[in-house]
Amino acid sequence: MNIAIDGPAGAGKSTIAKRVAGALGYIYVDTGAMYRAMALNILRNGADVSDAAAVEAVADRTDVTIAYRDGSQHVLLNGEDVTDLIRTEEVSAMASLSSANGAVRRKLVLLQQALAKKEDVVMDGRDIGTVVLPDAEVKVFLTASARTRALRRYKEDVAKAEAAGQPAPTLEETEAAIIRRDKQEMEREISPLRQAEDAVLVDSSDMTIDEVTETILDLARKAGA
Ligand code: C5P
Repeated sequence: MNIAIDGPAGAGKSTIAKRVAGALGYIYVDTGAMYRAMALNILRNGADVSDAAAVEAVADRTDVTIAYRDGSQHVLLNGEDVTDLIRTEEVSAMASLSSANGAVRRKLVLLQQALAKKEDVVMDGRDIGTVVLPDAEVKVFLTASARTRALRRYKEDVAKAEAAGQPAPTLEETEAAIIRRDKQEMEREISPLRQAEDAVLVDSSDMTIDEVTETILDLARKAGA
């Protein structure tokens, strides 16, 4: 049994997917983390993201693997645990750009499909229901308004900035970045962000985390989980 959860940045996919996986005893696979690890390597190699051949050359010598320690996902980049290094704004921006590269996607999609074949998974991303696991038993398109997503991200950013003693971005800046990323992901040629025809749309703008989790667990149980 595989559960695909797609949607834009900040819709709460990873929080919800982790909870659904925990409740069902499935493995949670965060595919965004794989694109982030690849992006980190592109940054480290100083490759120009607008040069497809240069990005492809880095992708060829990049090995991304997923390991589970104490039940949580760790991302290994050529054997190095980069889980804590891939959450910066620099890596986010590069992941959004480099994930439009065909070689990057081919490589990571194969890895994702292999994981889903071996285990019962809850996988979140942008193209899971459309490309990676078109036969997933449950498909959800999880979204929320840009304002709601910006507000959630803004609260996290303020907490992070306070802890680091740095100035926080404004809500307007955060919302503008989200709208920019949505546009990039929906308009890209390869695997654009879109709802699979057979996916259930869940708008979490006015729902609690528990309500969204229960909605998806209901769908999973109806599908035989
Ligand atoms: O979800 P997250 O923000 O961690 O994803 C990082 C980047 O990876 C996103 O900007 C998105 O463009 C890309 N991505 C993708 N396909 C996926 C998952 C993420 O293109 N299945």
